[in-house]
Amino acid sequence: MLSVNERRLWDAHVAMGAIGALPNGGCCRLALSPEDKSGRDLFVGWCREAGCTILIDDAGNIFARRPGFDNDLPAVATGSHLDTQPHAGLFDGIYGVLAGLEVFRALNDAGITTRAPLETVVWTNEECVRFSPPTGGSMVFAGLLPVDEFHAERTIDDTSVREDLESLGFLGPPLGHERHPFDSFFEAHIEQGPILEGERMTIGAVTGIQGARMFEVEVTGQDNHAGTTPMAMRRDALNGAARMALKLNELANAQDSAIRLTIGRFDVSPNAASTVPGSVTFQIDLRHPDDAVLDRVEATLRRLLDETARDQGLELGVRDICAIPPVHFDRTLVDLVEDKARALGLPTMRMLSGAGHDSANLAAIVPTAMIFVPCAEGISHNEAESATASDLAAGATVLLHVMIERAGIV
Ligand SMILES: [Zn+2]
Repeated sequence: MLSVNERRLWDAHVAMGAIGALPNGGCCRLALSPEDKSGRDLFVGWCREAGCTILIDDAGNIFARRPGFDNDLPAVATGSHLDTQPHAGLFDGIYGVLAGLEVFRALNDAGITTRAPLETVVWTNEECVRFSPPTGGSMVFAGLLPVDEFHAERTIDDTSVREDLESLGFLGPPLGHERHPFDSFFEAHIEQGPILEGERMTIGAVTGIQGARMFEVEVTGQDNHAGTTPMAMRRDALNGAARMALKLNELANAQDSAIRLTIGRFDVSPNAASTVPGSVTFQIDLRHPDDAVLDRVEATLRRLLDETARDQGLELGVRDICAIPPVHFDRTLVDLVEDKARALGLPTMRMLSGAGHDSANLAAIVPTAMIFVPCAEGISHNEAESATASDLAAGATVLLHVMIERAGIV
């Protein structure tokens, strides 16, 4: 069966990883930084060499288009992001971009023209490091974020996103899905978790992305002297917040194994050794694939927080930070990924994505699915992130076949 060129795909990762290279083998290409521009220019050059035309939209998203026989048909699209976290490895995001390019190169080698055109897209600012929001580029394309709001975002370098897009030469005209429709969208990505490796699987046919809710909890008591205030007379916000954290952990452990509850931020005030803490603010990150479970756990969580605050004589404020519903990918496309992977003889399983991706936004407007490949020990957002050349090639070969299937060969 037709397959991609493993060595060429690997070499492209190495060449791209040299841009913004870090001392421990990783790289840093923050969105719309000079390194991001160099990566974009390298990608655009490679795509032109492969016979693509290039379109840039008003969010700086890059659409590399390989013409088909019937260019009035909507494109079968793939892609991911070129930007990275500050201490990134060589695979998160860029794999989905280079896999799309490698599909084009493999089709060129085989002399195949598809009926519908194909596109590989680079979405701007998936990672949300220099500016917000995460997956902003694909949100604009999908009509989920007004482009003016995106352009007005301030970066950590005190520029606006619009200024950066202009100065880097990546500000194009409005495009959006109405003007530029897709037939379907596929995103290849490293799993960024330990499941595929643990199950000794090569391909994950991703069925969806779990839902996430975030809350900020403010617990208020009273600052007081550590030496003179009897234990029974204290209104210790830290004591109350710590009890809350333990109860929420017990609550999460009593649910099914798909639940994720994290308190990753905890601020104590005044944070002084000899003052009974009068105030604590902490954040809860709650995730599960099923909205009904999220509803139920959220209700219990709120009750536990209330009860604990009342027991301890503390005041409580709970603010919603965000509520992102679970995403369900297109069943036909998920089946297609699974069927093609099995036909290639690759160990394959269905799975959910724990992390968010641009595909969540695409799923709102077009049939979408993702292809996961393993990464060593599930480590990502880390210079030590690692994947094998053969797994990367396997995922790209699955991508090649699902794109050919959707686009058709005359
Ligand atoms: Zn990513």
